[in-house]
Amino acid sequence: MFGPDLDIYSVQYQRWGGLKVIWLPYRRMFRHRSCLSHGLIIGTLLRLVYLGVWLGMVILGMILTIWVLDQGWGISLDWQGQLQPLQQQVSLYQQEGLALLLGLELGAISHTLSDGLGSFLKSTRKRWRN
Ligand SMILES: [Zn+2]
Repeated sequence: MFGPDLDIYSVQYQRWGGLKVIWLPYRRMFRHRSCLSHGLIIGTLLRLVYLGVWLGMVILGMILTIWVLDQGWGISLDWQGQLQPLQQQVSLYQQEGLALLLGLELGAISHTLSDGLGSFLKSTRKRWRN
């Protein structure tokens, strides 16, 4: 679901269901199997940043909605009280976050190696036939 082939109309892309539209700009930005989508570390990092931008826009929209409600209807929120538990959760789950990043990268590495091996075998078969 978060692999390098989000740069084409792939199974990974289709697994996003209705949310797959967020990957359309990504597909247009990166050529298939380019080092920016399939490169070690950089591919995963760029996908995380890309998804982070989308999540950031959603969170910003939620904050603006809450702010508008706060201004218009007098609903007030305790921002400090809301953010403090989130900061505690982030510090509590650092190892799990690291494991998640490692898992994403290992999945991407295995995919890229598989792509490379597949291409190598195809070209080798062509040479043997000719
Ligand atoms: Zn691929």
